[in-house]
Amino acid sequence: MLRVIAITMFSIILFSEAIRASEFRLVDLTHTHDQDAVSWPGPNNKFNFTKEHRGIYEGGPGEGGFWLEFNYFQTPEHMGTHIDAPCHFAEGAPRVHQIPIEKLTGPGVIINVKSKVAANIDYRVAIDDILDWETKYNKIPDGAVVIMNSGWSLRYPNKTLVFGSDTWEDITSYHYPSWHEDTVDWLVKNRNIHMVGVDTTSLDYGPTVTAPVPFAAHRVLGANNITGIENVANLDSIPESGTTIYAAAFKLYEGSGSPSRVFATVPVDNPRKMRKNRN
Ligand SMILES: [Zn+2]
Repeated sequence: MLRVIAITMFSIILFSEAIRASEFRLVDLTHTHDQDAVSWPGPNNKFNFTKEHRGIYEGGPGEGGFWLEFNYFQTPEHMGTHIDAPCHFAEGAPRVHQIPIEKLTGPGVIINVKSKVAANIDYRVAIDDILDWETKYNKIPDGAVVIMNSGWSLRYPNKTLVFGSDTWEDITSYHYPSWHEDTVDWLVKNRNIHMVGVDTTSLDYGPTVTAPVPFAAHRVLGANNITGIENVANLDSIPESGTTIYAAAFKLYEGSGSPSRVFATVPVDNPRKMRKNRN
């Protein structure tokens, strides 16, 4: 009898430990999608939200008198917090509806480059920044979602600040940080990653349009079937390691990108996991 009680108690302790280890909190990493949402200038870069009905409904064939609201919206694919499908800069690569859902999530790897950006607004994340992260937290885990935190999301949605230009209609005038193409090339060749993200508006830095190879980071990522995430918000609210990131993209048929609810799960009551990955 005593033995049964002991085994039962032991099982209960193990079970509650398992529950405790899996506890997490959710953190939203998404800017609200509205009239101020940021996208590149162009003829179709406007967000359209039209109220079709908001009030007591009396118009139908049956009895009315109840509250009803519904709207119509139209949005650029590449607006606000959104994903870039691999096809964005790579012919024949998967479009939004073809990205397996498993590839839209993974362990969060947050690369903090704020001090570098303070010295150089056009900073590009270097391979050394990745290696520094690994020195602190261990090797980048398989399926990782690697996101630059440059502090830029505080500038959102002020276009002058986001694009780093007083003339933000002119795409050759941009200044903001992002990824170096050599770094994303190193990542895709040496680590098994699912996505690469930025808190700025592009996976390539501001001056990319006039660079010898424009949009070089986008092109490397697309060619390697890696999905991007742009305009990620709120990265200061999650640890640099130990989270899981999700990009719940609107499953747009044939899309080259789509607005996404990006969020993280952060383990609680398990500080060891938050400090160090266990590969
Ligand atoms: Zn995009």
